[in-house]
Amino acid sequence: MSEQPAARASRPALLTVDDDPSVSRSVARDLRRRYGEGYRIVRAESGADALEALREIKLRGDEVAVLLADYRMPQMSGIEFLEEAMDLFPAARRVLLTAYADTDAAIQAINVVDLDHYLLKPWDPPEEKLYPVVDALLDAWLRTDHRPVPETRVVGHRWSARSYEVRDFLARNQVPYRWYLAEEPEGERLLAAAGADAATCPVVITEGGEPLVQPTDAELAERVGLSTTPAGDFYDLVVVGGGPAGLGAAVYGASEGLRTVLVERRATGGQAGTSSRIENYLGFPDGVSGAQLTDRARRQATKFGAEVLTARDVVGLAVRGSARVVRFDDGAELAAHTVLLATGVSYRMLDAPGLADLAGRGVFYGAAATEAASCAGSDVYIVGGANSAGQAAVYFARHARRVVVLIRGDTLQRSMSQYLIQQLDEIDNVEVRTCTEVVAAEGADHLQKITLRDNTTGATETVEAHWLFVFIGAAPGTEWLAEVVERDARGFVLSGPDLVLGGRRPRGWTLDRDPYHLETNIPGVFVAGDVRADSLKRVASAVGEGAMAVTLVHRYLEKL
Ligand SMILES: Cc1cc2nc3c(=O)[nH]c(=O)nc-3n(C[C@H](O)[C@H](O)[C@H](O)COP(=O)(O)OP(=O)(O)OC[C@H]3O[C@@H](n4cnc5c(N)ncnc54)[C@H](O)[C@@H]3O)c2cc1C
Repeated sequence: MSEQPAARASRPALLTVDDDPSVSRSVARDLRRRYGEGYRIVRAESGADALEALREIKLRGDEVAVLLADYRMPQMSGIEFLEEAMDLFPAARRVLLTAYADTDAAIQAINVVDLDHYLLKPWDPPEEKLYPVVDALLDAWLRTDHRPVPETRVVGHRWSARSYEVRDFLARNQVPYRWYLAEEPEGERLLAAAGADAATCPVVITEGGEPLVQPTDAELAERVGLSTTPAGDFYDLVVVGGGPAGLGAAVYGASEGLRTVLVERRATGGQAGTSSRIENYLGFPDGVSGAQLTDRARRQATKFGAEVLTARDVVGLAVRGSARVVRFDDGAELAAHTVLLATGVSYRMLDAPGLADLAGRGVFYGAAATEAASCAGSDVYIVGGANSAGQAAVYFARHARRVVVLIRGDTLQRSMSQYLIQQLDEIDNVEVRTCTEVVAAEGADHLQKITLRDNTTGATETVEAHWLFVFIGAAPGTEWLAEVVERDARGFVLSGPDLVLGGRRPRGWTLDRDPYHLETNIPGVFVAGDVRADSLKRVASAVGEGAMAVTLVHRYLEKL
């Protein structure tokens, strides 16, 4: 008897198709008797139905071991069916069921569809005629291990900005996925099974086999199991932003008994989540990747009972009596006694002709770790002289042929930590070009060339470049708070003593106390991390402020 595959959540299928219902049933019955434990027996009564079943199996990420098709079927013959089925499951073994009179056609089919076997009907007794054939085919199939593990799959184009965003979203939310190019054979097969094509990429196929054509972040979040809607209708604390400050606050808030919900626009971890290695965070002498730190912090927050909502953008803040209300971009609202603004900062865009159009197609803001493997053997250009650029250079140097760090100034000393400067010095394929700016970019569907200017001589040079990672300082995206919360000239949120100028409390302040340290001009609305005016821009300080904000929330709630 053929070896059975190891027990798995979903068994590979044996599919049989015959337009005569009684024949179809009896083949299925015989197959089930012998193979039903290790394989799923799928039965269809027409080629079209069988193909539909195969598409579903493909989308679920399951496998088909053997296809048994009747030769004479109306509409679609067995050979035509097997030909199409091969596109979906090229490794499945193929058997044609024929009557004696059709053996010539069956023999010809050996070439057309690379037939493994033809079986003459009737096949009684199956022990002699059917099982030995199927056993041999299953043994051959099992020897080639192409059985997939359930996983999310993404099909898209190499140089599509949205395909990149989808992968980045999944990676940063710790959703494992496999990436297929739309033009590679398996990519084409998945697109066909999803009823999509190269023009409707990216397509995401969830672990459960559901195809999502050009999904939004919110759709993706929902379908891959990330929470997007709050479970409650009133909280003690709403934390806006899921970077270190927000996650810190969620951990402390929930662990200290506050009903806490954290709302994150894109992916928890914030800027720190994109860092390849944070070496100066207390307790990690060998460094920790942003992804690891985020994963732990998020699990810690949810373990204590904090709710974490992903792919929800907060666009408004209002005061309604003692309630503080945040509004999402779809108009929905969330109310609480207190709100913590922990929205951090995001990278500034590099302003030079051609760059804007190529964002996500060779030009990336931040580390874009998902792209590292694709940079193998190429030259990578990094713009920026701060630690984030240094870390990225160290990281990409492991994959790229050469990494060129471009800085406007004449030295890294003023902007980068000494330990990183030393690391860069010691890496052979890293080069630092000082006094250099990117002044133009070119490329049809992706970045192909950049023009560099030496700002001491004014000389320009155009070089071939497919990868440009930009780290040029960051700005807080706080325009949505403009009407409500006091900010400094650059948009950073003011709090505590910064609001009490010459002994005068902020405008509209009605309480008979000064704002607490991290409290904004709205009582009960606090701020922590990089978005706070004059903050330190460090993981440790963001986490610390998140924790401190929770203490102040308690103090505020006691007096409510
Ligand atoms: C590549 C890189 C490497 C770094 N390396 C180090 C290092 O080695 N050591 C160190 O100490 N620091 C490092 N930093 C700095 C550090 O990461 C930041 O100081 C820290 O992440 C700030 O945390 P935060 O929570 O204040 O803000 P952020 O990390 O910026 O997080 C803010 C979050 O809020 C979300 N958000 C923003 N607006 C909204 C909204 N309206 N609605 C919902 N969500 C919103 C954002 O999507 C983001 O996830 C690095 C930064 C980068 C980019």
